[in-house]
Amino acid sequence: MALIVQKYGGSSVGNSERIRNVAARVAQYHARGDSVVVVVSAMSGVTDGLIKLAKELMPLPSEREMDMLLATGEQTTIALTAIALHAIGVPAVSMTGAQAGIVTDGVHTKAKIQNITPKKIKELLAERKVVIVAGFQGQTREGQVTTLGRGGSDLTAIALAAALKADLCQIYTDVDGVYTADPRIVPEARKLAEISYDEMLELASLGAKVMQSRSVEFAKKFGVIFEVRSSLNDNPGTIVKEETRNMEDVVVRGVSLDKNQAKLTLVAVPDKPGIAARVFKALGDANLSVDMIVQNISHGTGSPATDLSFTVDKPDLLKARKVIDDLHSEVAYVQVIATENIGKLSIVGVGMKSHTGVAGKMFDTLAREGVNIDMISTSEIKISVVVELARAEQAMKAVHAAFLG
Ligand code: ADP
Ligand code: ASP
Ligand code: MG
Repeated sequence: MALIVQKYGGSSVGNSERIRNVAARVAQYHARGDSVVVVVSAMSGVTDGLIKLAKELMPLPSEREMDMLLATGEQTTIALTAIALHAIGVPAVSMTGAQAGIVTDGVHTKAKIQNITPKKIKELLAERKVVIVAGFQGQTREGQVTTLGRGGSDLTAIALAAALKADLCQIYTDVDGVYTADPRIVPEARKLAEISYDEMLELASLGAKVMQSRSVEFAKKFGVIFEVRSSLNDNPGTIVKEETRNMEDVVVRGVSLDKNQAKLTLVAVPDKPGIAARVFKALGDANLSVDMIVQNISHGTGSPATDLSFTVDKPDLLKARKVIDDLHSEVAYVQVIATENIGKLSIVGVGMKSHTGVAGKMFDTLAREGVNIDMISTSEIKISVVVELARAEQAMKAVHAAFLG
């Protein structure tokens, strides 16, 4: 008899038949005597639909109101899942994030979990009830509804598994596990039996939306071992855990593509101390996370100027643009160029620490495909390049074939 946290994503609860399917699986574990906490996402398409509605009314809606709005998606699914369990005779109780004791900071739309008090959940489990918790949402100490960033139900599940000291944490989704690349883009991609936290974290933050990156960070911090698997079959999934020695034998574990990035270029900013600090402080103060940054050394004499480029998440482009526009009088740039037509392609593997020639091989592969590289960034275990969006999937397939084919 184990304490199990199971998370079901949007497509796994996408209609009443799928919800029934979830209930049947939960019932099996419950019947075997396990204590089951189920975290569910909004039904597929619901969160996007709500965002679209709000943006029809106003391009930059209040983030507080967005949280109020988006939290309704998960609230629908918890009740439906509880009802589906009742229908097959399994005692179940649904809970919002707040009722489940999930306390967050007040950064609307990207709140961080500060603390979880799972007292009520434990009481219900002791009564042999299945507890269904709304993913993606929490509440501040002041009682404001918050959400945990897109894909945040993963974080709810991992955080609950940590708080409850669960024996098992299972992330059920619409693919059989974590693959060497998104199997919807690269059909040759292979399912991985296991992957390290660091690799999963890089893949997730570089666009592999199978796991929310913040949830992987949390899992690593608290040592929550979890399995990513399909809600549509019983195949074993992918185990995500601390790195083991033999993992370094593989140079590239996976390839990811992030189509959700946008690039801003400040053309001809004065090349003098304090400019970059001013720009990135202002972006940070607006809670905008900047990813890649490229700035060249200026040439020539007189008043040297250089271009400063950086990437942000696509949904943040408008907000970032506004921050930059407001800085114009302080940072005397000539022009701002904003584009959404980029893709960030990355290769990830802990084995890169001990192998050379990986970047050369990647760039050579892109050159042979005729794909131009716009920006480059590397870390010990990853190499990322920004390329033209229209060529990004072709580039991904070629790079996957070169390293993992
Ligand atoms: P859920 O609704 O269950 O949270 P998501 O849509 O957020 O599911 O994530 C699952 C999707 O992630 C898959 O359908 C797949 O297209 C995509 N994906 C991207 N990269 C990978 C990868 N490396 N391995 C598996 N799936 C991936
Ligand atoms: N419903 C939220 C989203 O679409 C959270 C999640 O699915 O994990 O981002
Ligand atoms: Mg998801």
